Amino acid sequence: MEASRRPEAQVDILYSAAEIAARVAVLADEIALSLGPEPTVVAILKGSFVFTADLLRALHHHGAHPQVEFLTLASYGAGTESRGQIEILRDITDDIVGRDVLLVDDILESGRTLAFARDHLRGRGARKVRLCVLLHKPGKLKTNVVADFVGFETPDLFVVGYGLDYAHYYRELPYIGVIRAAR
Ligand code: 5GP
Ligand code: MG
Repeated sequence: MEASRRPEAQVDILYSAAEIAARVAVLADEIALSLGPEPTVVAILKGSFVFTADLLRALHHHGAHPQVEFLTLASYGAGTESRGQIEILRDITDDIVGRDVLLVDDILESGRTLAFARDHLRGRGARKVRLCVLLHKPGKLKTNVVADFVGFETPDLFVVGYGLDYAHYYRELPYIGVIRAAR
């Protein structure tokens, strides 16, 4: 059998699956009220795929009929924060000219990822681009990005689960957890 590359780590729960579900329902309510019934939801991959899937189903319960697109981005530089150089690995595939877009990402930190994605979608002709993030780590902004919808204001800790990875693992956790520092 192939040797595992998964880093062994102790993960402490920060937001449980139930807490996330409750928060997603409230967010969907706010989004449905302010975006109209047929937004195009653009999920930034990979980190936001679980959040977006839950958000879409919650939007359904508010009578919305969203379209869905995926934008796969990579940011250069190792480490936990993006370093400024962002590249499109895979672009959206449908026309968004004149459409109201809800851009979804996992975490807003410096804002470089979202600023890049927002400008890209405006360049592709979106009428309006609203920003939704699952987590916001305050005090780290290096751009003029303001999220319109925020799941949780979160402490400056490295988090995993619910789509978020640690060395490409841990995305499958149904909760958001913090990697406990090795002792
Ligand atoms: P920024 O807003 O600085 O462009 O970057 C935010 C991105 O950094 C997120 O989309 C995510 O990919 C990554 N990131 C920031 N903090 C964390 C964290 O605590 N855990 C994980 N897994 N990724 C993070
Ligand atoms: Mg990301």
